[in-house]
Amino acid sequence: MCDIIWCKKEINGKKCNTVNYLDPYCFWNWEGKVNCAECKTVYYIHMIQGFMYRGPEEVNEKPDTSPLYADKPLEGYRNYLPGIEGRTRPYQCLPRDIYLGVADMVKFSARGRPVRGWRPQPPSAGIAGSFGFEWDIQKLTPEVWEEYQQKLAKGEVSGW
Ligand SMILES: [Zn+2]
Repeated sequence: MCDIIWCKKEINGKKCNTVNYLDPYCFWNWEGKVNCAECKTVYYIHMIQGFMYRGPEEVNEKPDTSPLYADKPLEGYRNYLPGIEGRTRPYQCLPRDIYLGVADMVKFSARGRPVRGWRPQPPSAGIAGSFGFEWDIQKLTPEVWEEYQQKLAKGEVSGW
């Protein structure tokens, strides 16, 4: 859920009518000042658990941060996308670098049992490379079978 500040500041006899989106991740438990993306009026807010505890109250100070996004529903949803200097905050929700690599190949499940999808699979597996209900580890991947025997001997394999 995302709270908003619907700016009603009158400028040259016309209401600003900009909806500033307070994206929950940044404002959930937050006290400070945030600007309107359109008219740059600064509002003090205090949010507790996503609930607007105090504010928005207009203040004559510099903002601490900006909304992530803003639009004007009365003007065909003209909007300010993230990352506009002085108006909106840059979007920084990129995945951490550890999530940008390739998938890990897993030989054993959390219980220490061999998993079926270990590669490479032999040509006899056919086009889809799946042995269906017959996955003969010992024959298809002898090195995984060997590792499995060692795990069994060390007692690192638990029940299904
Ligand atoms: Zn405004």
